[in-house]
Amino acid sequence: MTPQTDQAVVLRLTDYSETSQIVTVFAAAHGLLRLIAKGARRATRKRASTGLDLLELGELSFLPPRGDAQLGTLTDWLQQETFGGVRRELLRLYGALYAGELVASLTEEGDPHPHLFDALVRTLRALAGDGPAAASLPEFQSDLLRAIGYAPNLEHCLDCRRPPPRGSAVYFSSGAGGLLCRDCERHHVEKRRLPTGLLETGPQTGDPRAWFDLLDYHLTHVAGRRFKTAAQVAALLAKGDSAA
Ligand SMILES: [Zn+2]
Repeated sequence: MTPQTDQAVVLRLTDYSETSQIVTVFAAAHGLLRLIAKGARRATRKRASTGLDLLELGELSFLPPRGDAQLGTLTDWLQQETFGGVRRELLRLYGALYAGELVASLTEEGDPHPHLFDALVRTLRALAGDGPAAASLPEFQSDLLRAIGYAPNLEHCLDCRRPPPRGSAVYFSSGAGGLLCRDCERHHVEKRRLPTGLLETGPQTGDPRAWFDLLDYHLTHVAGRRFKTAAQVAALLAKGDSAA
């Protein structure tokens, strides 16, 4: 069988045996892939040919799973970009881990998302670069929700269909899929009140922490569980690191 090739970001590395790892990658044309990397844990200080690091971008060669096998096999990995700059600041590092966790949790094997792949690489570059880090996180949350078909409706109340009047209290329900006005919110148990004025901004231009909290609330409901790195990211955004 001829190996297939793709560009991919490493999302997860799990030890499998003395010498092997299970590698979860998000690939441009193939989406989420879980592959066994034989020899990846070889006990040598020199990088093995298949040695990979978390959150790096590379050129992947792999054999898809055969028969009843759950895992394909990684046959080669050529590192292209390490996004080393994320390690110089906690917000950048946790932000990058959070972005990877979202993709691993909310996309499925065999379901390619080329636009989301581009958005992930763009976000990792922004977090590794010299520009502000904070705004790239709500932007990526929005990109991901759009890619998986859960973009919230922030235009009008999902019960009465009216745009909420300016200055009045507005609520958000993940189950309803977006906004609820003050008249309709009482019919919903699952909801949260939005900070005043938030909807007059957007995820890329508004207060990064308020947008991060809202979109993480929605993503948590969609996934059915909390994300491991969300609390750290929220706390670091609250401190105002890189908020400029
Ligand atoms: Zn309403």
